[in-house]
Amino acid sequence: MQRFDSGLMWFRRDLRATDNTALHHALASCRRVWCVFVFDRDILDPLPRADRRVEFIRESLVELDARLREMGREQGVEDAGLIVLHDSARHAIPALAQSLGVQAVFTNHDDEPPALARDARVLGDLAHAGIILRSFKDHVVFERREVLTQAGGSFGVFTPYKNAWLKALRDEHLKAWPVEPLAAALAPRPASHARPVPSLQDLGFEPTNLSQLPMPAGASGAQRLLEDFVQRIDRYQETRDFPAVKGPSYLSVHLRFGTVSVRQLASLAWPMHLQGIAGASNWLSELIWRDFYHQIMANFPHVIERAFKPEYDRIAFEQGASAKALFEAWCEGRTGYPLVDAAMAQINHTGYMHNRLRMVVASFLVKDLGLHWQWGERYFAEKLIDFDLAANNGGWQWASSSGCDAQPYFRIFNPVSQSEKFDPQGKFIRRYLPQLAGLSDKSIHAPWAAPAMERLSAGVELGRDYPHPVVDHALAREKTLERYAVVKKAA
Ligand code: FAD
Repeated sequence: MQRFDSGLMWFRRDLRATDNTALHHALASCRRVWCVFVFDRDILDPLPRADRRVEFIRESLVELDARLREMGREQGVEDAGLIVLHDSARHAIPALAQSLGVQAVFTNHDDEPPALARDARVLGDLAHAGIILRSFKDHVVFERREVLTQAGGSFGVFTPYKNAWLKALRDEHLKAWPVEPLAAALAPRPASHARPVPSLQDLGFEPTNLSQLPMPAGASGAQRLLEDFVQRIDRYQETRDFPAVKGPSYLSVHLRFGTVSVRQLASLAWPMHLQGIAGASNWLSELIWRDFYHQIMANFPHVIERAFKPEYDRIAFEQGASAKALFEAWCEGRTGYPLVDAAMAQINHTGYMHNRLRMVVASFLVKDLGLHWQWGERYFAEKLIDFDLAANNGGWQWASSSGCDAQPYFRIFNPVSQSEKFDPQGKFIRRYLPQLAGLSDKSIHAPWAAPAMERLSAGVELGRDYPHPVVDHALAREKTLERYAVVKKAA
């Protein structure tokens, strides 16, 4: 291993001081290491001024900073805390590396196209100054071109990818990259950077409702959620589809910002999968979906702009004022379909949406409202606390049938039967749409079809307390099949 006198660890989507590949390599190969995080103005400046993600990151950094100091102190190094900048990362990293006089910058891969462009510029500027950039896989178990078809191509279908993924998996892929035993190499912060993590106000943001939500930030928050989930992982496959039930892990935001290691999660699920525990196998599959979409983004980057299957770009979606009005009704949870509206209330109030509901509302936007999937993709990108370009794009292209291994275009979710099946007693709907609480378990899924007397006694007047449905599902279904006919003709 090449050795350096000093290095800089650049944290991005890996906000933890345990099992962190780049941090491990930095500490193992340098005599002293500074750690930095940049609140990147290129990403932050266009965001609305209240954003749960910024708050989640900030809280996670406070914990990371404290943990780094603690590890340093245990080794006799005072103030080994995090250098936190609020700047354009592509300029700030080369400038900091030069001012600290390091020989190498260490970081973990980020395969999102804008991040790759940023990193290419940073690499060039560092190289110009004679500084090496070393980057590592950390965010996924298998990345880029690690799992390939027998012919050496990239997979575009999930099941064979999953089989190849499982076949390729060895203990070494899930091995943790320890940090603590190497902490003696942490360097004290220079006085010019010895500042606490900036407040939200310093960053130009306002507080959100994050502290009132069950979304604990930081590596400790992830471990708490994990401990809770481990108790019910064996029931995952039975509970995961019911939004009123505590079924999934709620770890997506932690995977997104790296406050938990995917290796830790996969090494928990894998042995249980080998023992035949169905819940663990199902959950491991979800982690494999995550890897799958990341390799899709890396190997087919056109998906970020266009359909995975080019013929789907020929579909003419609705445009104009009425399309915009339908879109606003969808965003604001005013479609008149209770499960869709409750799901949109969930994302708007919490930044999270249950997976089953993501599928339902995405299908509704594309196949009931006839709107372009990219409109919904953009809305999710703005609102989701776990927003991840690869998974979000994959999910939207799956729902619109334009993606790799997507559902066939003629498979159109019925929002009422989805509601009856996955929220049978309307518990989830009642939580987010209390104005419908008085309707019976049967009527709550389609208030317009409820007997007028029932609506009256439940205090639900359509158009006053709750909207009329904005579209008729049966008609919308026919229209969608016609709209998608161009795909059939092209095939
Ligand atoms: P669990 O059920 O506990 O799953 C464990 C982990 O596996 C998740 O945290 C996530 O990292 C991963 N995972 C689960 N399902 C999927 C999937 N279908 N694709 C890729 N990874 C998955 N997930 C995101 O992390 N960010 C997004 O921006 C995102 N956008 C989506 C948009 C649409 C339209 C759809 C249909 C799905 C989207 N998903 C996204 C996938 C999935 O809905 C969420 O990962 C999941 O709901 C997060 O909850 P959880 O952590 O409790 O999941």
